[in-house]
Amino acid sequence: MTKILLTGGAGFLGSHLCDRLVADGQDVLCVDNFFTGSKANIAHLYGNPLFEVLRHDVTFPLYVEVEQIYNLACPASPVHYQFDPVQTTKTSVHGAINMLGLAKRVKARILQASTSEVYGDPEVHPQPEGYWGRVNPIGIRSCYDEGKRCAETLFFDYHRQHGLDIRIARIFNTYGPRMQPNDGRVVSNFIVQALQGADITIYGDGRQSRSFCYVDDLIEALVRLMALGQPFTGPVNIGNPTEFTMLELAETVLRLTASRSRIVYRNLPQDDPRQRRPDISLARGQLQWEPRVSLEDGLKETIAYFSRTLRLS
Ligand code: NAD
Ligand code: UDP
Ligand code: UDP
Repeated sequence: MTKILLTGGAGFLGSHLCDRLVADGQDVLCVDNFFTGSKANIAHLYGNPLFEVLRHDVTFPLYVEVEQIYNLACPASPVHYQFDPVQTTKTSVHGAINMLGLAKRVKARILQASTSEVYGDPEVHPQPEGYWGRVNPIGIRSCYDEGKRCAETLFFDYHRQHGLDIRIARIFNTYGPRMQPNDGRVVSNFIVQALQGADITIYGDGRQSRSFCYVDDLIEALVRLMALGQPFTGPVNIGNPTEFTMLELAETVLRLTASRSRIVYRNLPQDDPRQRRPDISLARGQLQWEPRVSLEDGLKETIAYFSRTLRLS
């Protein structure tokens, strides 16, 4: 049994990772300030002797004894990370410093949930890990993008300077059950709108693309990355390389929900990346991993989840 600290453990991805680690028989300490996470995501684990939860903000120091750390704390939806942008940068930067300081003291292996946003609005397509990205340092997405880039820098400097065992996963758009209905990201927005018969809001002309990974595939990759025996820092892209436009996504959601919602067009937010698709050759080679769940199957699971959740509320 390994003692594992999971920051952001009450969030969308974090709660699925809690489930997976507890199911694997690990001793899990979930730390979260419940900014975008919720107790409902982890309530089913209360009372399990393998699971503990601590309300804590990672921008403040934390002294616990653990063997592994998954650092996921950070709002991921543009709506939420732009709500208090200074806190977003602090969460990535001060949060990384505190978790790295902790990892250094207790000699824990530490994994960072980084993001495809480090590539910004990319000129290289698909994006390999060697691409340095095209990020606006002063725009409305910068608090998230630059915070995550700085966290990667800190991880590598703690690795080079203090010999820390680090793992960096660059996560591409991931979706699935337990996204909040008001999360603001595109998959949950379209599904909630379709189920409620509201207008489907496409930002811009809908020709911008993303590549959507189902949550189960993502969690499998994170666990494999952490478990890898040989030294491997990454960064490694984790995502589904099948690319869709937002218009295609909207049409698929409308078909799968048999909804009569109309598609409407809204202004494209500033610095919205035009295209995004991971090159996952490194993950395939190092982790023997690739996504298994198609967009259609993943959307069906997610639609079923939101149908249940919205009926309850
Ligand atoms: P989420 O917003 O559902 O989860 C983030 C969690 O972190 C929430 O539970 C929130 O309350 C918590 N949190 C935020 N600030 C905190 C702080 N200062 N201290 C303690 N807890 C804090 O988002 P998610 O989709 O689950 O994302 C999890 C991680 O994965 C994030 O680091 C995100 O940047 C990264 N990521 C996610 C995606 C994706 O598509 N889901 C893509 C790229 C990267
Ligand atoms: N830290 C922490 N928990 C620990 C050890 C350190 O939260 O168990 C924090 C500590 O507050 C410090 C940061 O991590 O601000 C970085 O620690 P490090 O030892 O690298 O730097 P220093 O303490 O020398 O500034
Ligand atoms: N988007 C959209 N309608 C929405 C929400 C988002 O068209 O209701 C677009 C958004 O402008 C972006 C894409 O969908 O081009 C993905 O947005 P999301 O916020 O999910 O993730 P990110 O931009 O961080 O990849």
